[in-house]
Amino acid sequence: MDPKQYVHAALKFPKYFLYARELARHLRWTPAQLREYQTQRLLQVVRFCYAQVPFYRRRWDEYGVKIQQIQGPDDLKLLPLVTKQDLIDHSADFFPKNMSRRFIHASRTGGSTGSPANFYQNIEARLREQAFHCRYWRWHGMNFWRDPKAVLRGSYKPPKNDVQRDWTNSYKMSGFDLTVEKLQHYGQVMADRKLKFLLAYPSLAERLADAIGRHSDLAARIHLQGVFVASEKLYPSQRQCIEQVFRCPVHTHYGHNENAVLMEECPQGDGYHLITDYGYTEFGPPIDADGLREIIGTGFNNMATPLVRYRTGDFARLRTDGACSCGLPFPKLVADVEGRSGDIVVTPGGRYIGPSHLEYAIRYITHFSDCQIIQESPTELSVLVMPTPGYTAAEGRAFADAVQSRLGEPMEISLKEVDQIPRPPNQKRRFVVSRLTAQRLGTPAAVKTADEKLQSIAAAR
Ligand SMILES: [Zn+2]
Repeated sequence: MDPKQYVHAALKFPKYFLYARELARHLRWTPAQLREYQTQRLLQVVRFCYAQVPFYRRRWDEYGVKIQQIQGPDDLKLLPLVTKQDLIDHSADFFPKNMSRRFIHASRTGGSTGSPANFYQNIEARLREQAFHCRYWRWHGMNFWRDPKAVLRGSYKPPKNDVQRDWTNSYKMSGFDLTVEKLQHYGQVMADRKLKFLLAYPSLAERLADAIGRHSDLAARIHLQGVFVASEKLYPSQRQCIEQVFRCPVHTHYGHNENAVLMEECPQGDGYHLITDYGYTEFGPPIDADGLREIIGTGFNNMATPLVRYRTGDFARLRTDGACSCGLPFPKLVADVEGRSGDIVVTPGGRYIGPSHLEYAIRYITHFSDCQIIQESPTELSVLVMPTPGYTAAEGRAFADAVQSRLGEPMEISLKEVDQIPRPPNQKRRFVVSRLTAQRLGTPAAVKTADEKLQSIAAAR
């Protein structure tokens, strides 16, 4: 049975409703109650890992950490960090000794650089994951099980039709071979079926909005109440385009396949709330002058491959103040989330340049339908442009110069006009692609130093 169908069937389990009720209750808690809950869950996870998971018992013993030393979040830093490479090298050792292998779903980490890592999810993890998402959607007015919505994500490849409705009232739309005509056809479906929400990758939502926006009658017949985008970074220009055409707010969140960290964008804008009943999140030392830090997560939900102090390879900038008046009880600690490590340019001098910083260069170019920056080597960048009528070489040059000026130090930039920019099988758009080795990207010097420091502390004990 296809795992997705299996999960859909499993959602009928009463446990889902138990989780959903539990999570709804947390929204009424005070910050102090949430902190207490988080501490208890964290200790449960750490103790479970030491008792049941061979990888952690061995690693922590090697570090000389006694499990009794871990009494709260502040003691967590005694434990070593876990990397994606650990998951690749020891994936079998992450599986708990006494856990049944029935109904275990094997999954893979997003592999933007290097090889993907295998990890497993049990049915509880998948139900809890769904309950967290449903709480987030409901907070923004959508009942996932009832409201009619369009789903435009890369994973759906239809057997026959480009649009298919399922039992959750989702109209799944294929993200493959998109043309303006096909996107306008999706717009017709959205208007005819009176769809209320759209769930999509930011880049696909933008293309849909662009195609529908060319047809003002069609746009006027669509009445969305909200657009939820995820899985890629949402750029300001994309948000503007989507909001303008659909006349409704765009919501985004940060999460990842390994289920260790969840952040939801504040409905008032200006940052992300850290969802503290989902996991315990730490941030590495700053790796650039703007305070970009690696996101390090300990997840509470998936005990089939539990992750404690897992280096996500994603980066965030923090806010100084965690308070917010929007009503969510979770701290608003993150100002912005930067692209995956594979989507960051590393200059010859070792500076990390995030995609959103480079994205502003796009304003220098008007006549294009897609573009991409590829770091080919430590000193070379390729800038790919898919031109549309009206494009001139001068425009392309200005774009490349603007990219250069944002790097802060000289790199060899070659501009290439192309007919197509290939997307990976999951159809996610990547504005920056790095071909540097995973090792160079995945181990920012500062984080590595912190890791070594930890090791020497542990060795000295
Ligand atoms: Zn808020």
